[in-house]
Amino acid sequence: MTGPGLLFVVSGPSGAGKDTLVDGLLRGSSGLKYSISATTRAPRDGEREGEDYFFLSRGVFEKGMRNGEFLETREYNGNLYGTPRGFIRDTLAHGYDVIAKPEVNGALRIKASFADAVLIFILPDKFADLRRRLEARRTETNAEIAARLAIAHEEVKSIRSFDYLVINADEQHEAAIADLRAILRAEKLRIHRYNDGRIQEIVTES
Ligand code: 5GP
Repeated sequence: MTGPGLLFVVSGPSGAGKDTLVDGLLRGSSGLKYSISATTRAPRDGEREGEDYFFLSRGVFEKGMRNGEFLETREYNGNLYGTPRGFIRDTLAHGYDVIAKPEVNGALRIKASFADAVLIFILPDKFADLRRRLEARRTETNAEIAARLAIAHEEVKSIRSFDYLVINADEQHEAAIADLRAILRAEKLRIHRYNDGRIQEIVTES
């Protein structure tokens, strides 16, 4: 690996399918590490500590905030969520790429600290699919779904601050994952990612 890795931030409204796409992307991408967030939300069925999230009490989370352990935090629908700072810093420094999956405000906050971060917005091909997907997964009450949809309407207002838009249509997840892979690949090949030494190595005739 050469030089620091790249930070990719996949965001978009609840129900857009960020989890499915990021899971798909991580499969078979050995140089890409997932930044596990912390939350005060209770685990859903099947969610595992240290895999899906670090599930913290509000007290522990707030202590972490005071100690500067988070790159950004957000109160979302009554729970705190935060991106641990140390993991991203150390993993990028070791040359790995990192992918994080915050809500939209968190994505913008990360960009404020890491100007080089690549921001990718995920949407279904019809906004109405968000409600249907949230209802189908049966993990939130009707009131929570309504709150998430209200937040979604706010979130799309920031779409132009992102670098890429990936459409995650029903039954088309593989196409969306392929789009994400294409973005990652192209970003790695941008000319300013190559240091002068590497280019010199190529162009020097021996
Ligand atoms: P969920 O409760 O569905 O797992 O997540 C709710 C929202 O919080 C999602 O949009 C998710 O992307 C976002 N989220 C997860 N981790 C973080 C984080 O570390 N920071 C921020 N700002 N949002 C997060």
